[in-house]
Amino acid sequence: MLYSPTDLRGNRFSVVLSPGWTRHYITGLLDQMKVLHRPPEGFAYRSYPCWCNARDDQPLLQKDRFDFWLDTVICRSCGTIRLDPYISAEDGVTYYTDVYPRAYFDQGQSLEDRYVAVQSATRAHLFAEFLAEAREKAGRPLRIVDYGGGTGGRLEMFKEDNEIFVYDLNPERTRFAVEHGYRAFEADLVVDVAYSCHTMEHWIDLTATTRAFLATLDRKNGIAIIELPFLDRIVSGARARGLRDEVSFPHKWYFFVDSLRLFMASFGFSCIASNGSEFAIFRHDERTAALEARSLSEEILSRNIRKLRRARRNGILKSLVRQTASLLSRLMSRARGPAS
Ligand SMILES: [Zn+2]
Repeated sequence: MLYSPTDLRGNRFSVVLSPGWTRHYITGLLDQMKVLHRPPEGFAYRSYPCWCNARDDQPLLQKDRFDFWLDTVICRSCGTIRLDPYISAEDGVTYYTDVYPRAYFDQGQSLEDRYVAVQSATRAHLFAEFLAEAREKAGRPLRIVDYGGGTGGRLEMFKEDNEIFVYDLNPERTRFAVEHGYRAFEADLVVDVAYSCHTMEHWIDLTATTRAFLATLDRKNGIAIIELPFLDRIVSGARARGLRDEVSFPHKWYFFVDSLRLFMASFGFSCIASNGSEFAIFRHDERTAALEARSLSEEILSRNIRKLRRARRNGILKSLVRQTASLLSRLMSRARGPAS
């Protein structure tokens, strides 16, 4: 297996792992994730409407990727996929300040480990050029908020030339970020860039949290950068069981780039850039957003369902090809006999 993480400057480097170690590494990682992503007990699960307020859902799945019982539905009105029933936003605060961080800690991950892990996993290099341009245009350090930024670290490569604020529900993580050169989020802060990296899918009250996230932004020139595990990336067959291999408790919401664009249009934000699978950048532009919303809402549900079917079909095909190839290579090495 070719493991290619990124270094602090955003350059990719590769580590080749032997098949045995790869199996060990992946199984270990999955076990760890299973603990982190277990649906918590002791909270009430109730049905809530979609962000678009509709209660017209088509059931998709009854179990998550780890075989825990969780219902996944797609909203017939806007095409967004979500877990429903779910815990309340109030219980979510307890979950994210207490249960979820403790699960990381119990897995042996310290704040320092987390900080280092976040730095090596960051994909901020994807839009580094975009930010450099914005920095040049502004002619001064940009004010950037990493919303739900935990210990900090994701925007490490921009820290020297810009002012980076971290907002997180967990006070310990925020304290750690401040000790490492980030600034704590302040109420009424106005920023040039509002950044959300793999946090929006966790926002239980999606509309209220997104409104607070966008409220930090300078409406005239500000941009919102959103990184998500967009479902578009599984259409090529990256997941053997398609959506089933994506779903787990902490992620309440599942977006295709199109369904996120429709959601953001409801706040008057239109998409100005995206790589179509990992991030999308938005700015406030009511007119364009309204046009986008109109063109997207027409067919979005059937388009998203078609993409899900393709993801599953391609995933099955790809895993069949992989299994056949490994069976053939095993048979051939057996036929050749042990190497002398
Ligand atoms: Zn909806």
